[in-house]
Amino acid sequence: MKALEEKIIRDGLGLGTDVIKVDSFLNHQIEVPFLLELGQEFSRLFAGSGVNKILTMESSGIAVAFTTAMALDKTPVVFAKKGSTNTMDAEVYRQEVKSFTKGTTSTAWVAKKFLDPQDKVLVIDDFLAHGEAALSLVDIVRQAGATLCGVGVVIEKRFQGGGNRLRDEGIKLESLAIVEKIEDGVITFG
Ligand code: 5GP
Repeated sequence: MKALEEKIIRDGLGLGTDVIKVDSFLNHQIEVPFLLELGQEFSRLFAGSGVNKILTMESSGIAVAFTTAMALDKTPVVFAKKGSTNTMDAEVYRQEVKSFTKGTTSTAWVAKKFLDPQDKVLVIDDFLAHGEAALSLVDIVRQAGATLCGVGVVIEKRFQGGGNRLRDEGIKLESLAIVEKIEDGVITFG
């Protein structure tokens, strides 16, 4: 998506060779009209898949999952929660997930009542790096016996391999921007 690449170049920041900061529109401040455009694009890419539910990971996937849901006829958005809390439901699907940004492992969980075998689920997230977050969401969809329509990510960093892990599993993956390299603060797209 050309407008996204231009936005990342203009407003994003490449940190070292691994990390991109897009705090001004996606990860800290949310630029609502722009995220509505991203939602429209996901809706176009997954049109005809019969999506009736969106699954994302708290917290940074929620905003773009929400705008995608708006574009996809207001499907519900379910977000996996991370870590145990005293409000955790008794009946949950759970999966270990290693955090790219924190380097720690935690349990992502979704209450069973929010995912059914009849659901056709689109997984949405902000970034795809090694694929841990996306694959843990895919695993939760499978535990529920629901149908996976595909995975949509805003920014895929191709050199970190997560995209290939998903594609090798035959999962339909749509990335709105694919980054090939981050070097000396310069972000190069594929
Ligand atoms: P993965 O699980 O694919 O290794 O990493 C994806 C998750 O880590 C995303 O949910 C995202 O929150 C976070 N992440 C990965 N790479 C980046 C990055 O370059 N910048 C930011 N802000 N988050 C990232």
